[in-house]
Amino acid sequence: MKSPRDYLDFLKDKFPEHIIDISPSPSYLISEDLIEDNCMVLKGIKDRSGVKILLALKAFAMPSVFPIISKYLDGVCASGPYEAILGREYFGKEVHTFSPAYTDNSIKEVVDFSDHVVFNSINQFYRYRDYVKSNGREIGIRVNPGYSEVEVPLYDPCQVGSRFGVQPDELVDADLALLDGLHFHAMCQQNSDVLGRIVDSFKNRYYRIIEKVKWVNFGGGHHITRDGYDRDLLVNILTDFKKEFPNIRELYLEPGEAVVFNAGVLVATVLDIVNNGMKIAILDTSAENHMPDVLAMPYRPEILGAGEPNEKRYNYRLGGITCLSGDIIGDYSFDDPLKIGDRLVFTDMALYSFVKNTMFNGIHLPSLVRFSLKGNSFEVVRDFNYIDYKNRIS
Ligand SMILES: *Cc1c(COP(=O)(O)O)cnc(C)c1O
Repeated sequence: MKSPRDYLDFLKDKFPEHIIDISPSPSYLISEDLIEDNCMVLKGIKDRSGVKILLALKAFAMPSVFPIISKYLDGVCASGPYEAILGREYFGKEVHTFSPAYTDNSIKEVVDFSDHVVFNSINQFYRYRDYVKSNGREIGIRVNPGYSEVEVPLYDPCQVGSRFGVQPDELVDADLALLDGLHFHAMCQQNSDVLGRIVDSFKNRYYRIIEKVKWVNFGGGHHITRDGYDRDLLVNILTDFKKEFPNIRELYLEPGEAVVFNAGVLVATVLDIVNNGMKIAILDTSAENHMPDVLAMPYRPEILGAGEPNEKRYNYRLGGITCLSGDIIGDYSFDDPLKIGDRLVFTDMALYSFVKNTMFNGIHLPSLVRFSLKGNSFEVVRDFNYIDYKNRIS
């Protein structure tokens, strides 16, 4: 599949300089046009295969752009009560919630605001199924398909010892009355050939239960909107599955990343340049606070107009504004020397970014901005200040 680097020229036109220049710094700048393009690709999958597609809110939750997404997708999936409430309030379609465990309190809110409630264990299923059913909601169990190809343990739901999903042996003697559907999630940024192998393993492990339920949810991690993703194969896998199990009335996918892939950037500014065996630029943003996956994955985000170290004439290490020694975004090279006040544009920052931010060190959060070149619109959705910081700790 195309690498993040291969998109730099494409993104330069989609995030033009006149928009970057008027954005606050730091800010997450979200292109509604690119989100809509992604949604149209997803709609194509829906039309060809008859599946329903949900936005995973944990990856991207910006209510002001939900009206664009909800034109194409069928609803949201939530990780607990707050996301479920947000989905119900602002997205206005189906809400599906999965949490590794519910409490007696959280299950009430989850049931109030979700159409489907998915359990991670037989214990939880037994404990809450009557309550969920008596409130007219659908019940699912997350199972462990027993197969995945995610190489980074932090993101691998099927690693040995994973806490996710009921194993087949636990289901042999289980009383599955009131069960409506099965759910699995075993992928991360992957192509449809991987899904094919997971579905095979899922069928091997759970065939007799799949034959009895009304719906199945194939989770997220499908990189559907990336160039090189095999969409025909995905459609085949989905339609074959429906043919094999005529009892399945609804098949769901719940991508997060694919919905907003490449649709946002993080705009930052060079505050200072110091020297320590190399030139190090200090930015008004932070890997630790504002690009958490850079340190967690770890990975090096791309910057519009920048190259690998030594590829261009001037090399810099880029560092953040927190006290953390490892608050380093990466090493880059540029055609011209960086100057204090220069703006840098980090690509593919709509997903898993502002939803994960912290205010470590009391650092301001980047503003949230949405814009559309087609619609000729630009709006700062939110600026953050000291009150936001104080309210989280007092
Ligand atoms: C993370 C997650 C998703 C979305 O994953 P993406 O990689 O963003 O597509 C969907 N469902 C579940 C259960 C998840 O944990």
